[in-house]
Amino acid sequence: MARPNLLAVDDDVSVLEAVVQDLRRQYGAEYRVLRAASGQAALDTLDLLKPRGEPVALLLSDQRMPGMTGVDFLERARVLYPEAKRVLLTAYADTEAAIQAINTARIHYYLTKPWDPPEEKLYPVLNDLLDDWKADYVPAFEGLRVIGNRWSLNDHTLRSFLSRNHIPYRSLDAASSDEAQKLLDERHIQMDHLPAVLFADGSVLTQASPDGVAAKVGLRTHATQEFYDMVVVGAGPAGLAAAVYGASEGLKTLVIEPEAPGGQAGSSSRIENYLGFPAGITGADLGRRAHVQASRFGAEFITQRAVGLRIAGQYRFVQLGDGREVSSHVVLLAPGVQYRKLDIPGADRLTGRGIYYGAALVEATSCKDEEVFVVGGANSAGQAALHFAKFARKVRMLVRGKGLLATMSKYLIDEIERTSNILVETQTQVIAAEGEERLEALRLRGPKGEYCVQASSLFVFIGAEPGVGWLPDSVLRDEKGFVLAGPDLRPDGKALGDWTEKRPPFLLETSVPGVFVAGDVRHGSIKRVASAVGEGSIAVQFAHQYLAGF
Ligand SMILES: Cc1cc2nc3c(=O)[nH]c(=O)nc-3n(C[C@H](O)[C@H](O)[C@H](O)COP(=O)(O)OP(=O)(O)OC[C@H]3O[C@@H](n4cnc5c(N)ncnc54)[C@H](O)[C@@H]3O)c2cc1C
Repeated sequence: MARPNLLAVDDDVSVLEAVVQDLRRQYGAEYRVLRAASGQAALDTLDLLKPRGEPVALLLSDQRMPGMTGVDFLERARVLYPEAKRVLLTAYADTEAAIQAINTARIHYYLTKPWDPPEEKLYPVLNDLLDDWKADYVPAFEGLRVIGNRWSLNDHTLRSFLSRNHIPYRSLDAASSDEAQKLLDERHIQMDHLPAVLFADGSVLTQASPDGVAAKVGLRTHATQEFYDMVVVGAGPAGLAAAVYGASEGLKTLVIEPEAPGGQAGSSSRIENYLGFPAGITGADLGRRAHVQASRFGAEFITQRAVGLRIAGQYRFVQLGDGREVSSHVVLLAPGVQYRKLDIPGADRLTGRGIYYGAALVEATSCKDEEVFVVGGANSAGQAALHFAKFARKVRMLVRGKGLLATMSKYLIDEIERTSNILVETQTQVIAAEGEERLEALRLRGPKGEYCVQASSLFVFIGAEPGVGWLPDSVLRDEKGFVLAGPDLRPDGKALGDWTEKRPPFLLETSVPGVFVAGDVRHGSIKRVASAVGEGSIAVQFAHQYLAGF
């Protein structure tokens, strides 16, 4: 594989030479370092690289250049290489412009000159950005090939699983791709044996399921120990924070998560307001970093789903999707919330066949040049609409309320207004979905009455509900299913449920001693990444206090 490119841009030859030398010294083995003496020369270079399919990982540009400023260059370069990390090199006096550019040109970082010593001021920042780039980068001819049917639920489930676990793959539609047909013929694969996964070593898995692929690509599905101090259910921000703090403080910690770490935020395009990330960070990047951090402290992760909880004396057993169990003294529940389903005729039948929920951002590239519909008026719908707008010809947002102001953050509303191919249709509801094999039309009710529109893709973001139907009744929940904990279990100062301990429940402890809860799934939680992280960390302190009682 050709080395990905790093492109440095500066009109001052001596500065450009110094940047290039520093980049080569640190990254020369893995990347090709290119240079350009102006914004226009840099754009010309990108124009040459693009048709050759050459990847560009980083654009590092000086701000003050004659003809085209660094911000202008980076903004224009984004059209050619949207996934490249964009860094502005500024003089101290230009800091204000650089901060503005984070919004306008979606710059990932700005560095002030001079950057000496690079080991302290340059490489740590670029290492982080290049790690993020690598995590999302799918080399053109490597990874898995998935041959399936775009409108099949099994196919959609498999592709969602692969992308959420960051397993590089290329999807080929059996119905429309000549390459897919050729591969199916060569390997004698029948159409009723799809989806088929072709691995780089030449092996093939037909009628492939997420479990089969997980085992084949080496995702760990079995715990290495029989007993843990703490089992964490869910690797969203809450579970990951608990894993980092628990493992770093010596607790033998196991995390159970069926998807890639990162949680609900993993599917969002960008978290803009998490402390310490001025240019925002995707949930997937945050999840990947926290996963590495927790693993470094010794936390163990398995790709499994919790399906039950059994209590036997002081031992807690979490039952797993494959029928096994893991045991511990402490369980931390952090499974977050799941997208609420659309309750209209046709929705169940067409789910995965044109109607998608939340994590289906994986479908975005399949909607290239099509018209897609997004239902919902809150932040998740707004972020999804902006994401789809990069691929689709037109995005129609169907919003029940009179506008977005009451339900969506201002920065998202502004960005939607700036995006010309998003149309917001207020006071509009979907009342039915139609189609045989796949979604073909939607029946809508708007200010002017009922009408029908042709539609092939509908993405639903209409709120969320807690994903804890699998918990025993002894773990008390509120009327909406959110888990009660700490003071919420004793509204009148009296303990509720089967609580038998002499002490009151700790903060974040549920009605079952030793079973804690953190994040969005907790009754009364603030639905934010920072609060989920905070609760996950705090829960570990109470787990210590609980364990001290043994
Ligand atoms: C599109 C979108 C954009 C957002 N943007 C922002 C933002 O900009 N800023 C902000 O602060 N917040 C944002 N949020 C909210 C934020 O993502 C949540 O508050 C946060 O992720 C909650 O963390 P959590 O760990 O409680 O749950 P989650 O993030 O929901 O993670 C729960 C994890 O548990 C796993 N799980 C579920 N059931 C099981 C089971 N049975 N067994 C094992 N694992 C299970 C799930 O797969 C998931 O990975 C956004 C949310 C969405 C959907």
